[in-house]
Amino acid sequence: MSKKIIVAGAGHGGLTAAALLAEKGFDVTVYERGQKGKLGYDWTDIFDPKALDVVGCPWPSEDKYEWKVDMTFWGPNTKPSSKIRQRVPNDPKEMEIKMERSDIYEMLINFAESKGAKIEYGVNIKGPVMLKDRVIGINTDKGEILGDMVIDCCGCESPVRVGLPSYLEIQKHPKWGEKFHVYRAFYDLPVDIDTVDDLYKVTLLPDAEGPGIAWIASEKTETESHSDLLIGRMDNFTEENALKTAEKYRLTNPQLGTKQTRGGYFTLIPVRQPLAIMVADGYAALGDSAFMTVPIIGSGIGNAIKNSKILADVIANDKTETYSAEVLYNYQVEYFDKMGRDIAPLAIMKLLLTRINQDELTYAINEGILTHYEMTITANHTSLWKFLNFDPNLPKRGIKLVQNPGLLKKAAPVVLDLIEYYIIAFNMPRTYDRVKLINWARKYNHVFEKRLPKDKVKEDEASYKE
Ligand SMILES: Cc1cc2nc3c(=O)[nH]c(=O)nc-3n(C[C@H](O)[C@H](O)[C@H](O)COP(=O)(O)OP(=O)(O)OC[C@H]3O[C@@H](n4cnc5c(N)ncnc54)[C@H](O)[C@@H]3O)c2cc1C
Repeated sequence: MSKKIIVAGAGHGGLTAAALLAEKGFDVTVYERGQKGKLGYDWTDIFDPKALDVVGCPWPSEDKYEWKVDMTFWGPNTKPSSKIRQRVPNDPKEMEIKMERSDIYEMLINFAESKGAKIEYGVNIKGPVMLKDRVIGINTDKGEILGDMVIDCCGCESPVRVGLPSYLEIQKHPKWGEKFHVYRAFYDLPVDIDTVDDLYKVTLLPDAEGPGIAWIASEKTETESHSDLLIGRMDNFTEENALKTAEKYRLTNPQLGTKQTRGGYFTLIPVRQPLAIMVADGYAALGDSAFMTVPIIGSGIGNAIKNSKILADVIANDKTETYSAEVLYNYQVEYFDKMGRDIAPLAIMKLLLTRINQDELTYAINEGILTHYEMTITANHTSLWKFLNFDPNLPKRGIKLVQNPGLLKKAAPVVLDLIEYYIIAFNMPRTYDRVKLINWARKYNHVFEKRLPKDKVKEDEASYKE
């Protein structure tokens, strides 16, 4: 009899893992709280379409996607002449596509179902079902559902991951500084689009209230036009605050209209190092549940899809059919070798945003310390080494940095943190030993957590207990 795989949550990674395993003869069911035809959010997403090739999912038809335009990066008080425009090569191997999220879901659901996976909608998952140390199923509002293993694709605050016994030391919640609280809404575009210089304008540290980013992306098709507003902050904020902030942005961005046409709600994006321990007996976390997004920009669709292939292969190659932590740990090791090890240090770079102030950032942009090389970061950039660039102007950029002692004092420790990180990362256990892995996980997380503001972290942790 074929082994029963439970996929918790119809996320992007969950659907492709379901497709790959069903294709290999497993009995796979995806359990999802959303309703059929209504999954995802009411907005568009950008992702690396080569992820589809990794899992063998056919590309969408050409009328379903567009190639992404270059972003321009601004600091809070950047001179227009100093803004940084990305220079993504005009090469499909480097470029990302933009699609409606509902169309991405439709494509992946069709793919999963075409391979024989089943999807049950309207099932609210409450936590894992445990038998001693082993995850044997999920607890839902429809009762317990048991299986041979659970793939956790329930996202950043997955109830499956959160409900695992604490002694497994699989991190329950991302900390302050490791996630963005995001408000996103589409507004009308009240000006002629040809007068908009920055079609995809990203501002770093836009608001004095605290660390964050914002974007205003404007678009016009034959049938409609809009400006897409995203406000992302490390601190939680209210809708009232989001609307006031939008009002403030309108003063310098006439492309942002006042009539809200789509979206208008809050979500959470993990922007941190990948989960230190991704597996347990009968359990593996994937996608946002394993914090697999690109830590600086929060893109996670392509990564969830690509890494579902590693997990599906490890499960299918388990001749013991036990899906034990020992076996599933091969997935974590392969993931870290292929992507995780080099994507995690981007979180150290991102943490700088939590330490520098608006003036220091403006200085870094206006004085050319940050350049288009660093800012040409896409969902394809899953490595620190793609982010760093040693161009001929480096000495000049170094001098500018030294001339700002405040910024230098905050930026210099990044180098030490990166060295410490790589020493720890290369010492990740190659085989599963729970005690050794827990010790390693503590050291790994410490590199990222040690510079977080303790009061903010404490306040955020308390909010989970409320
Ligand atoms: C505003 C915003 C913009 C983004 N833009 C981009 C972008 O442009 N490009 C990009 O690559 N990434 C983007 N991301 C990130 C991207 O959405 C995620 O990284 C990606 O969706 C991760 O996929 P996943 O498989 O982990 O699961 P998710 O997409 O997080 O899906 C989790 C699924 O689990 C279900 N679920 C959760 N809890 C339960 C429960 N209790 N019971 C049952 N089901 C449950 C949810 O309904 C959902 O269907 C964005 C995120 C946000 C919030």
